Amino acid sequence: MKTTAKILVVEDELSIQTIVRTYLESAGFGVTIVDNGPEALTQARLLQPDLVLLDLNLPGMDGMEVAARLREESSVYILMLSARGEEADRVAGLRIGADDFLTKPFSPRELVARVEAVLRRRRETAVSPTTLYTFQQLAINPDSHEAIAAGQPLDLTATEFQVLLELAKNAGRVLTRDQLLALVWGSDYYGNDRVVDVYVGQVRRKLQDATGLLLIETVRGIGYKFVDVKR
Ligand code: CA
Repeated sequence: MKTTAKILVVEDELSIQTIVRTYLESAGFGVTIVDNGPEALTQARLLQPDLVLLDLNLPGMDGMEVAARLREESSVYILMLSARGEEADRVAGLRIGADDFLTKPFSPRELVARVEAVLRRRRETAVSPTTLYTFQQLAINPDSHEAIAAGQPLDLTATEFQVLLELAKNAGRVLTRDQLLALVWGSDYYGNDRVVDVYVGQVRRKLQDATGLLLIETVRGIGYKFVDVKR
């Protein structure tokens, strides 16, 4: 059974609206377009989209603020569009909780590939059998997307959850940046592996806030290792 994924596009440039609609609709997605932040927040509540394609440069409320507000109320996937392509914007966007970043000008085919990759991640998680990963400080339920640290639910974005899950599945072993990139973002990810450092840093900080412990170690020059003890 195939259900149509809903995509909310937040973009004020007409030419890009047209291209994005054409390509996403012909790839089988349901597309709703708005051209400003406040309307994006309203439509996100009404539509409950599977993914928000969010332009960074919007009149009035900018994309960063829209992303931050969306994150306050949902874990919807956010793919950010930026004309600037600056590393600083990218990292700031990811910190706020964007799941991926695409720089303008982009090829419409790449856009469709990125959207499909992000949504595939979610499907793969949804069909995995129920296996709980439990440690002294942490318990993870992949089906319900819940992570409990020191007895409290961790507030993680969808991508942060995936990062933690992969590290925990491989507890005690080092995962390289490339391995994490392939596991979480997919082997067809085009971006920079800096994204891994940003996400691992966020997950590590949230775990540390909850438990007071450093549960993700950096293995210099190689990658990261989850070090809590299995129960
Ligand atoms: Ca714009």
